[in-house]
Amino acid sequence: MIAPILYSGLGLDRAHPVRRGGDAAELMRRPGTRFTLYWRGRQLVGGTPPAIRWLDRAYGLRLAEATGGNCLLLGEDTAGPLLALDVSALEGGEHGPEMGGNWVWLRSVGGLLPAQDAALLAYARGVLVWREKTRFCASCGGGLMVQDSGHSAKCADEACGALHFPRTDPAIIMLVTDSAGRALLGRQPVWTPGMYSCLAGFVEPGESLEDAVAREVWEEAGIRVRSTTYVASQPWPFPSSIMIGFNAVAEDGEPVPDPHEIEEVRWFTRDEVRAFGEADRPGEAGRFLPRRDSIARALVEGWLLNA
Ligand SMILES: [Zn+2]
Repeated sequence: MIAPILYSGLGLDRAHPVRRGGDAAELMRRPGTRFTLYWRGRQLVGGTPPAIRWLDRAYGLRLAEATGGNCLLLGEDTAGPLLALDVSALEGGEHGPEMGGNWVWLRSVGGLLPAQDAALLAYARGVLVWREKTRFCASCGGGLMVQDSGHSAKCADEACGALHFPRTDPAIIMLVTDSAGRALLGRQPVWTPGMYSCLAGFVEPGESLEDAVAREVWEEAGIRVRSTTYVASQPWPFPSSIMIGFNAVAEDGEPVPDPHEIEEVRWFTRDEVRAFGEADRPGEAGRFLPRRDSIARALVEGWLLNA
């Protein structure tokens, strides 16, 4: 058993038949349209506890006109289309342009939002960050034309015509155990001192997910994995990953940390990990677990429960 994974489980109808070949600028004029806003990496929320600050159609249309209308169809619910509008062209100070809410980094508030709002903002962020970073054709360097209601882009050079889609980089993350039921946790030198987590890494070309798990555990800890079992995955648009979570059983042995990436890696018993704290109140020896919004935490909690 594993707790619900933040940013996943979005129930929204993504309206594929509408968005294919569609024009977000036309869609935004439909009755019932609502807008969620994006500004230079941050998104607009409001209220206590926070939730998405939706803008109605009239306000959204004015903003779209003022900012060039960089718009994305997220999907449709019974009231109408839901769109994300990038208003990064607006000027704003430290707190962003005044829009009747707070401009937040999704990672800083994700765990406080209603689950569906967190998932929807992760979805919007994933596509809009891609759009922000993908200005030119990767094949020929030509300009791009956004299409499919914001979900893809086509090279404007007719001879090239390459299609471009939002990227999602697969990363594996694994809770590794030994024959005594201990878990292999480690830390990278760039992390906040005291934080320990599961090993993780990006999938490389020519690897299955299981291959990537075995390679990363060998590279980072010098431990051989015997078997892997898929557990759950988490959209992680920071900026463009999906975290694919596994439980792995390893051969016994003393871990040897990769000197370039890992500061410390060792086996921990459940009692030792239960004595870990949170970032704001570390436990024994100053250790604490990753935040509750991460799949790493869910994997560790799942292992603690399955004693
Ligand atoms: Zn091109």
